[in-house]
Amino acid sequence: MVEYWSVPVTEALKAHGLRIADLATSSTPGFTGDKQKAQELLVQRGEALSGLQEKLFANGRSGDRRSVLLVLQGMDTAGKGGIVRHVIGSVDPQGVDRAAFGVPTDEERRHHYLWRVNKALPRGGQLGVFDRSHYEDVLVVRVHELVPREEWEPRYDEINQFERELIGEGITLVKVAMFVSLDEQKKRLRQRLERPDKYWKFNPSDIDERAYWPAYQEAYQAMLDRTSTADAPWYVLPADHKWYARLAVTELLIDALEKLDLHWPPANFDIAEQLRRLERA
Ligand code: ADP
Repeated sequence: MVEYWSVPVTEALKAHGLRIADLATSSTPGFTGDKQKAQELLVQRGEALSGLQEKLFANGRSGDRRSVLLVLQGMDTAGKGGIVRHVIGSVDPQGVDRAAFGVPTDEERRHHYLWRVNKALPRGGQLGVFDRSHYEDVLVVRVHELVPREEWEPRYDEINQFERELIGEGITLVKVAMFVSLDEQKKRLRQRLERPDKYWKFNPSDIDERAYWPAYQEAYQAMLDRTSTADAPWYVLPADHKWYARLAVTELLIDALEKLDLHWPPANFDIAEQLRRLERA
């Protein structure tokens, strides 16, 4: 058991059977420490994550096709950017493949919705991060009826199939859905209007989206119910406490990387011979 966790994070956050309407977004499932402890652990466990990621990268250089892909979904202000900065920020950037998915461009619109996702998949040895993802095509698209129901409805099965293929290609998916309360979102949006260092994050349409909160809850619930599979489960992350969210995602990534059972790739040269050459050089 990892220190300060009463159950493994993968158990504490599992989506199976969970009703998000019942989720306490300020809870800290499985974690027995406080904010200060979480902040200390984030540094320490960030180093562990970084060591594992380096091994993944080293193996990728030696031809290993495997990679890990963190898929982040959440409403505006849920803290996706903070995860990228504070969790992914603890590892070597050359091993990170980050992609963000906003409103599709004209070119993207001319293609199947998975086209842009396919192009952004991590290469072997990389830690991929999706800041939003193909799930927008069953979230915002469903909520705003951007395409008719007959079109978005089959996407759940299609996404499951797509993810099965990714797994077959060696991609470990770590899917994290982040939830803050409506009140917490208001607080965070207010900060964006009160602090000059946060104006850049503000988008007036975020306020309009609040009116659709129940529809989003429903769409998120359907996403969890229909696309949380044994091989690519969703983790439901209560995200009112940023310190908890960041530590929990760090632990989820450590868990995924540990399961790959990575070792340093062996030397593909004669070490003694190279040492002799070095001495003479
Ligand atoms: P963020 O708000 O995360 O900083 P952007 O402003 O660039 O990033 O884009 C996010 C917006 O793009 C969100 O409102 C999201 O719902 C929207 N979006 C993402 N994918 C799609 C999609 N497939 N169709 C329509 N809108 C989408």
